[in-house]
Amino acid sequence: MKHVYFFSRGQTDGDRDMRDLLGGKGANLAEMSRLGVPVPPGFTVTTEVCRHHLLTHHLPDGVEEQVSEAIRRLERLTEKQFGGADDPLLVSVRSGGAVSMPGMMDTVLNLGLNDQTVEALARISGNECFAYDSYRRFLQMYSDVVLEVGHRSFEAILSDVKRQAGVETDNELEADALRSVVRRYKELIETESDSPFPEKPEDQLWGAIEAVFRSWRTPRAQAYRKTYRIPHDLGTAVNVQTMVYGNRGTDSATGVAFTRNAATGEPKLFGEFLINAQGEDVVAGIRDPLAIDQMQEVMPDAYSELLETARRLETHYREMEDLEFTIEKGTLYLLQTRSGKRTARAAVRIAVDMANEGLISREEAVLRVEPDRLDEVLHSMVDPSVDFRPLAVGNPASPGAASGRIVFTAKEAVEEAAGGDPVILVRTETSPDDFEGMVAAVAIVTSRGGKSSHAAVVARGMGKCCVVGTKDLEIDEAAGEVRADGKIVRRGDWITVDGASGEVIEGRIPTVKPEPGEDFHTLMGWADEFRKLRVRTNADNPADAATAREFGAQGIGLCRTEHMFFGEERIDAVREMILADDKAGRAAALAKLLPMQRSDFAGIFRAMDGLPVTIRLLDPPLHEFLPAEADEVRRLAEGLGRSVDEIEGAVARLHEANPMLGHRGCRLGYSHPEITAMQARAIIEAALEVAAEGVDVLPEIMVPLVGHLDELDNQRAIVDGTARDVFAEQDRKIDYLVGTMIELPRACLTAGEIAERAEFFSFGTNDLTQTTLGLSRDDAGNFLPLYVEAGVYASDPFQSLDTVGVGRLMRLAVHEGREKRPDLKVGICGEHGGDPPSVVFCHSLGMEYVSCSPFRVPVARLAAAHAALKETASAESESS
Ligand code: ADP
Ligand code: MG
Ligand code: MG
Repeated sequence: MKHVYFFSRGQTDGDRDMRDLLGGKGANLAEMSRLGVPVPPGFTVTTEVCRHHLLTHHLPDGVEEQVSEAIRRLERLTEKQFGGADDPLLVSVRSGGAVSMPGMMDTVLNLGLNDQTVEALARISGNECFAYDSYRRFLQMYSDVVLEVGHRSFEAILSDVKRQAGVETDNELEADALRSVVRRYKELIETESDSPFPEKPEDQLWGAIEAVFRSWRTPRAQAYRKTYRIPHDLGTAVNVQTMVYGNRGTDSATGVAFTRNAATGEPKLFGEFLINAQGEDVVAGIRDPLAIDQMQEVMPDAYSELLETARRLETHYREMEDLEFTIEKGTLYLLQTRSGKRTARAAVRIAVDMANEGLISREEAVLRVEPDRLDEVLHSMVDPSVDFRPLAVGNPASPGAASGRIVFTAKEAVEEAAGGDPVILVRTETSPDDFEGMVAAVAIVTSRGGKSSHAAVVARGMGKCCVVGTKDLEIDEAAGEVRADGKIVRRGDWITVDGASGEVIEGRIPTVKPEPGEDFHTLMGWADEFRKLRVRTNADNPADAATAREFGAQGIGLCRTEHMFFGEERIDAVREMILADDKAGRAAALAKLLPMQRSDFAGIFRAMDGLPVTIRLLDPPLHEFLPAEADEVRRLAEGLGRSVDEIEGAVARLHEANPMLGHRGCRLGYSHPEITAMQARAIIEAALEVAAEGVDVLPEIMVPLVGHLDELDNQRAIVDGTARDVFAEQDRKIDYLVGTMIELPRACLTAGEIAERAEFFSFGTNDLTQTTLGLSRDDAGNFLPLYVEAGVYASDPFQSLDTVGVGRLMRLAVHEGREKRPDLKVGICGEHGGDPPSVVFCHSLGMEYVSCSPFRVPVARLAAAHAALKETASAESESS
């Protein structure tokens, strides 16, 4: 069996498609060798050998022979000898799995050096400093990663010698000084590891190879794989490669480069290099590296070769590449290439530029940008050039970054924000009561709750930065302080929050707000050409509606009317309505709300001129509108001319053990038909009003939480009756639709029946997930993360649709609904509407649209394009 794959110009076994077997580094070293790019020759021991070794602690048969044979081949090719006393062959040993993984074994350079070969190297190169510099580097790396001894003490010895020699940097040391470094290193190794340093190159080589295999299992590598969901059984390959030397003097160097700017995407070589240095010196920050442009002056020939090579690699890979290179005595060598990591902005620009350059197609360009990353393009973030240590890190719930003064309650937020300085609301958790405070704050931080907690959902809806479940933040509202990381910050102190990273930082850290540029709009335009799904937004005020429209929303998929009930003057009327003793009292309170709702709807209709607007009738349980705190109860009692006892009694009567499954949704309209009638009237009157102004208005009235056809019938009769009355009163008409949310399993199971009376379905997948899985998302925090970690659910089902369970009900509902009513409009308006994998699923069900919060609209547009393009691609590959 073949365990070892050779690479050198003209004799290369592997290629770029063999990542799984050779690892990414090995596959690309092979590919570059095939291309004729200057790569020092070497060989790759496969990931299969590693897997075998991990299971059995032995090497499979034949590996040792194949490695020896490959070493012989390198000797012939380079005309050097491994361990040779005349002209020694030195190699590097480098790990590299199929998926790139920092945290694995570090590289060992200059392997093959010992007390004899170092002298040969000095002689051959005529440069003793270089030989001993290479040797001390080898001793240090080998001890660190193979013998696992001495890390700190090596640094101490080196500093000591530098101090004695009176120099600042490593490469100012003279040969004698370096010799003494080497001697002291070896003494240290011998004491610490209880055996002398292995002098035989073969022993060194096998020591290093097995260390690479072992490094697959280190806690840090395991932790990394867990975080990024990399399977634990892949194993790593080992690359053994002839050394080239960037530390041979001032005509030698080592560096890293991106073929385009990784931060901005500008099509220009970008990177750094260091003269007379080796390996990771550039990254390690030992000396200040030079910008790659400066190479043009100091090494013009190598520079133009690097430019030329970068261009070749980019054209070959059709990707922005991240290169590692070394220059030995003016000659360029490539040591690594891989696709380069980049900011979201750069990703967008590079995709668009490459399509315009003809390097890739527009379809590929669209597929090159991960939809989720558009968040970074659209929101502010903490200035990446600033160093800080966060007070605490929570769950990043809604992206964006902001600085503000700490407040602890919604009331404080409103009051303090009026003073002019921005405020950040810091609370254990938020409730609907806090809504106005959340509006007033620039950011929201909670110490409890997950990404689908109240704070997270509401903040995302507002496009406001939010971090939730920041467990290390001890919030002491009474003392007016927050404790974390051994520090105390107080009410009124400044903090900065980054909702994309989850960081909560003391003080005011500068933030940067990227303007989505022309490239962004170009890419989104292409995405729009390819997608089939329409994208609507969830919005309940004209400002959000307008923002969403700018982001490309094609209508409103969910306008939650209850959010309009929380405004300062309104809440009193709402409470009066809830607490009324009889129908007449209720009617009086509703009459106060009618004009307010009408003007809300009119504003939204105007903002959405020409586009459909789905308005949901009142949904939440009534007690959510009632006061919880004593002074609020007192104020309400005074306002209504009632006793505190009466109010408390009413609050207690409305209390529910399980409000999520309680008196809410269409059940409210069923028991209080006048609420539905008021809302229907407000919608129809507003529509007539704006239609008279020339606005093209398309209202869709949506009945929530229907489980039984009769519920829809009942509500529909009220809506249609009210509409008829209003049309008669005004002697005018407009078209409107009545449909329903599909958010209960029973609605899915009887979708055929329901479709007879519903003109549209909109999946409310938050409730549908709760009711299908039988778990309340507010209470799932203690066990759901465990399930996700264990892989019971592939991801949080409130974030990404559980396509197997919930998705099956949806499929059934779409199928049976369309069977009864072929022109049934189907969409989704839960949080999932902005989640890329869920969007892909909605596409596969053939829905008309997805609806999501305004800032997610571009994400959903791109995700919808991905869904359509990937479907086409897989259909093509099946038919061919
Ligand atoms: P990592 O995966 O951490 O980047 P590498 O295996 O790429 O580790 O090695 C790190 C650095 O070591 C390379 O970027 C290069 O500078 C240096 N290096 C590795 N192999 C050689 C070699 N054969 N000759 C010269 N330098 C090398
Ligand atoms: Mg590397
Ligand atoms: Mg719902």
